[in-house]
Amino acid sequence: MRILLTGAFGNVGRSALAELVRRGHHVRCFDLRTPANQRAARRLAPPAEVAWGDLRRPADVAAAAAGCDVVVHLAFIVPKLSATGVESEARPDWAREINVGGTRNLIDAMRALAQPPRLIFASSLHVYGRTQDQPPPRTAADPVRPIEHYARHKVECERMVRASGLDWCILRFGAVLPLAMKLDKGMFDVPLDNRIEFVHTLDVGLAIANAVESSRVWGKVLLLGGGPPNQLYYRELNRRILAALGVGELPAGAFATQPFATDWLDTTESEALLRYQTRTLDDYIHDMQTVVGYRRHLIRLLRPLVRWWLLRQSPNWRRAARRLPVPGQPARVAVVTGASGSIGRATALRLAREGYAVVAVGRDQDRLDRLVAEVQADGGQAAALAVDLSDERACEQVFERATRLYGPADVLVNSAGFGWYGFGETMPWPTALEMLQVNVVAVARLTLLFLASMKQRGRGAIINVGSVVGGLPSQGAALYAATKSFVDTFTTSLFRELRGSAVTVSVVRPGAVRSEFFDRAARLSAGRRIPGAGLAVRPETVAERIAGLLKRPRRYVYVPGILRIVPWVELTLGWLIDRLGPVALGWKARGGAKSGSG
Ligand code: NAP
Repeated sequence: MRILLTGAFGNVGRSALAELVRRGHHVRCFDLRTPANQRAARRLAPPAEVAWGDLRRPADVAAAAAGCDVVVHLAFIVPKLSATGVESEARPDWAREINVGGTRNLIDAMRALAQPPRLIFASSLHVYGRTQDQPPPRTAADPVRPIEHYARHKVECERMVRASGLDWCILRFGAVLPLAMKLDKGMFDVPLDNRIEFVHTLDVGLAIANAVESSRVWGKVLLLGGGPPNQLYYRELNRRILAALGVGELPAGAFATQPFATDWLDTTESEALLRYQTRTLDDYIHDMQTVVGYRRHLIRLLRPLVRWWLLRQSPNWRRAARRLPVPGQPARVAVVTGASGSIGRATALRLAREGYAVVAVGRDQDRLDRLVAEVQADGGQAAALAVDLSDERACEQVFERATRLYGPADVLVNSAGFGWYGFGETMPWPTALEMLQVNVVAVARLTLLFLASMKQRGRGAIINVGSVVGGLPSQGAALYAATKSFVDTFTTSLFRELRGSAVTVSVVRPGAVRSEFFDRAARLSAGRRIPGAGLAVRPETVAERIAGLLKRPRRYVYVPGILRIVPWVELTLGWLIDRLGPVALGWKARGGAKSGSG
């Protein structure tokens, strides 16, 4: 018979070509004139011949189809990186031109012939989409639900083939692995617990040759798989192949978790008609090792390097390295109060970049929304929670809503707080009360609420933003400093309580931080400014120290570190500050100066 074989130099094409030629068929190999294909064509001997061409050019296709009895159409742009260096998902329109446009050209050319050839169209089990939630096996009658461009193109082509008026047979292939196995990132696309049916490429070649000669396959959709002995889970298939190549098993965290379009197939009919299931995975491993040859020993020699390189190809592994959330897997959760302000915002952004799903708490809904949009634009996960923490009940709301949003929190950062500056007796009582509510009561309530849940789960971290003034009597900020003393003593005491558990509580003691804190305090303090803004560090610096505390928990940390001298200054020079304090405050309170610390 005269057979046109498109994609003759691809993986399945070579197997089909070898079997058809072995049986004495005249095979016309249609493929692109690439250097790799030209090398393969040089090995062709009659009765095989080559017809270089492009499926997108109707004239090429028509010339190739002329005089043939059967057309086996394998050529397709696949999701894996092909010999042409392109894959269907990266350039779907271009791939469609070749996949769907090419098949249309082929059908048109065949129908135009006086004696139209029969058509065997190679399709794929990808047409079923994700089916791991359905009981196996897939049958030819199952509905198609393609999830990638490649599979959509296959479905479109299958429809054209059925409607072509030609004698047709559609073969949907299971996992046909190439003998010249190349390790690439595609290997990580399939979750390890997915069902997969392996079929030896030489058996597929056999099935195609048998279909060409059969009188019983026309008008049928047949599934080609290796049969029950080759129905495995991807974990096993992958483990066997990597072991055979000398790479060794790779960590489960490198593989996708989202189900892939693989499954076990009902091959009863295809096997009855085509008698092709002659090889097992053991045969494949043996044949593949022969083809890979000396490179296998090279891989074994460079094993650590190869494993490192391979893992770098895995999107999940890279994500884990950057500690970004893995799609489909719950992220670690951080609740950050004061996220509409400077330190809280910088912390929320930092933790989101490190892979936390962040619950951003504050009062200003617009600012929180902008923060959430920024996190999401960067590929992270965040949600806004606008509440007023001067109302004690808001703390319970934060706990409940945060848990409902993302599940139990792994991290709580209490950053909400505000300051006031002036002689203590001039501080309006409502402001003082509000300060006690936000800086003290809310911090205590939230800490205790989340701590109970963290202890129950056996893990978690709480970071309370205190201040350097928490350990330094501060003229002009008596109540504020006292609130921070509370935060400090409360947190460091809990740290001691929790020693030896997997839950940690730490306090950050910043000096002045470049933030709106000073403007807000000035607004509340009749224009008097808390001194210190001039020496301020950036809020990102505080966020960095907070992130550092999560990795290496400590009782407290000063920001900047130099401020750890403050207790010594107080101890040795406290008597002097006692004398200068009222003088300085009196001068500043009258508006005479613009600097000091938060
Ligand atoms: P900021 O920019 O003024 O931010 C303060 C944050 O607290 C804002 O998100 C604000 O929310 C929130 N907040 C205030 N009252 C609230 C309430 N009733 N309910 C809910 N949220 C409330 O100040 P910051 O510099 O980021 O300060 C953060 C923390 O660092 C504070 O605890 C502060 O004491 C401490 N600290 C600051 C400095 C400094 O120099 N900046 C130095 C040492 C310690 P809204 O904007 O939505 O009202």
